[in-house]
Amino acid sequence: MMKHGLWLALPLLALGACATGGEDDAVSAGSAATRTAAAELRNASGAGVARASVEELEDSVRVRVEASGLPQGAYGVHVHTTGACDAPAFTTAGPHWNPTGQQHGKDNPQGMHKGDLPNLLVGADGTGSFEYTIAGASLSGGPNPMLDADGAAVVVHQSADDYRTDPSGNSGNRIACGVLG
Ligand code: ZN
Repeated sequence: MMKHGLWLALPLLALGACATGGEDDAVSAGSAATRTAAAELRNASGAGVARASVEELEDSVRVRVEASGLPQGAYGVHVHTTGACDAPAFTTAGPHWNPTGQQHGKDNPQGMHKGDLPNLLVGADGTGSFEYTIAGASLSGGPNPMLDADGAAVVVHQSADDYRTDPSGNSGNRIACGVLG
């Protein structure tokens, strides 16, 4: 009886494994281009203080930023044009991602940059988050790919973005940076 039970169980397990593998193959074959990316944002001393993730939707990119260790306050956050984060000043990330050649800020008549994001509001416990959708953008392919040859970075500035002043909303120095990958 024991032997028969074992032999019956094995083909069932094998069938289950085949079905699962087939579904995984179908999913990865349909998403050869980049559809998601993430970045660990580190401060000038190398400590992780926030995380960013991006997901390509239809003709848009959804960005989520979550702080995990920032002092209480409001911070300008932007997608910058180059995927490089050399501490301590993080200037290698370049300016705000701006493939359409506009000025900074949603309240600027000549605005806005594709990389402009809402301010990150951080509470007394060091956490805070937002989710925002960039319209008319992609991660790869199309007219405005965020992850082009030199990549992209997400940068937190020392103070709040006024959403108007070119080129970076008077948000001050860069205090944390993460390369999207
Ligand atoms: Zn900007």
